[in-house]
Amino acid sequence: RFITFEGGEGAGKSTQITRLAARLSSLGLNVRTTREPGGSPGAEIVRHVVLSGAASALGADTEAMLFAAARVDHVDSVIRPAIEAGEWVLCDRFTDSTRVYQGASGVSPALIGALERLALQDLAIDLTIIVDVPAEIGLARAAARRGDGVTDRFEGDSLEIQQRRRRGFLEIAAAEPDRCVVVDGTLDVDGVEAAIWAAVEGRFAE
Ligand code: C5P
Repeated sequence: RFITFEGGEGAGKSTQITRLAARLSSLGLNVRTTREPGGSPGAEIVRHVVLSGAASALGADTEAMLFAAARVDHVDSVIRPAIEAGEWVLCDRFTDSTRVYQGASGVSPALIGALERLALQDLAIDLTIIVDVPAEIGLARAAARRGDGVTDRFEGDSLEIQQRRRRGFLEIAAAEPDRCVVVDGTLDVDGVEAAIWAAVEGRFAE
């Protein structure tokens, strides 16, 4: 089984992945949690290069290709072998983040689609949980996590970008309702956990 978690900054994905993993494990299932960009030793190197800004001299298309190279390594060395071994793989961000983030950087849907097919081959995502929060809430949580209490560092701009990302994730969910479930990330942590659990049970109950 392969479940991906998507959403903007401060949506609470990582907390929820930890909780879902614990719940599945308590049922005796083998669970592996992983993340992108990164998730394998090779891909973590690319994560560092891209997120540190070291690759900022590259254009958006080239950066997307770097992300794709990392994904090929992550899929081939971690995700696919784990799924084949019968594990439940929970991944923090995956192809929808590429569509939304690299798409917002100006990478064409054609290139994004080609890179997606290259990395996935026959790999299918069984379920994508989109943790949805309004842009203001996500940015405030992300700032609180950074400890700076500042939500307006890039004010108008970052709020607008975050709103565009949110719309991007919701458009994906609307276009692929069989794969995607949108969960209200403004609920308290237990409430979000319950909503995710309902989605997982609904999808995988035999
Ligand atoms: O929120 P998380 O810790 O998963 O964030 C990792 C960061 O990587 C995001 O804030 C985002 O800026 C960036 N990212 C990206 N393109 C992707 C995935 C993540 O720019 N495809």
